[in-house]
Amino acid sequence: MLSSLSDDVALLRDAGLELTDEDRERLDRARVTRHEPPVRRVEEHAHGIRVVFDRRTSLSRHALFVQPVLSLACDLAGALGVAVTETGAIETDDNGQTIVPGVYAAGDAAATMQSVAIATASGARAAAAINAELLLEDTAPRIAA
Ligand SMILES: Cc1cc2nc3c(=O)[nH]c(=O)nc-3n(C[C@H](O)[C@H](O)[C@H](O)COP(=O)(O)OP(=O)(O)OC[C@H]3O[C@@H](n4cnc5c(N)ncnc54)[C@H](O)[C@@H]3O)c2cc1C
Repeated sequence: MLSSLSDDVALLRDAGLELTDEDRERLDRARVTRHEPPVRRVEEHAHGIRVVFDRRTSLSRHALFVQPVLSLACDLAGALGVAVTETGAIETDDNGQTIVPGVYAAGDAAATMQSVAIATASGARAAAAINAELLLEDTAPRIAA
């Protein structure tokens, strides 16, 4: 995504990140340079940031992006028995309904992409669906005994 914003993007590969041949080809096609040595430290300087690999090699950049590891903040989802996707988000349908009746999820907890706009929209959609479900419940015809 970053290569659509700049012609000068570098990937600093952490030891835990394995690249497939396809990954390498895609990075090459996107003109993203790869740096394999472990990063020793990151220094701030007058015009940005310097990533230091060892005594002789370093890389100057204007910005650095770190891929965070995301996880749910508490075990409420597990306690309620809702399903969780392999990326750790709560599984819902388009209205935020989880597999547990009456339990809805929205925002980052149920998203594959973290964004205020997406979180707000999913919250609004879940709120409307909850409202409709409650209304249907309140107005359900009574079954005569
Ligand atoms: C560093 C950073 C930069 C970002 N920059 C952007 C950006 O530029 N543009 C953009 O669109 N998005 C950005 N995002 C993503 C955006 O912040 C989120 O997508 C959005 O805040 C999600 O809203 P949310 O309400 O789902 O979750 P949150 O905003 O995380 O709100 C969840 C709330 O629940 C509370 N909480 C957690 N556990 C419990 C508990 N057990 N009991 C009670 N309360 C609890 C938390 O304290 C928090 O207040 C950024 C995120 C980060 C981390």
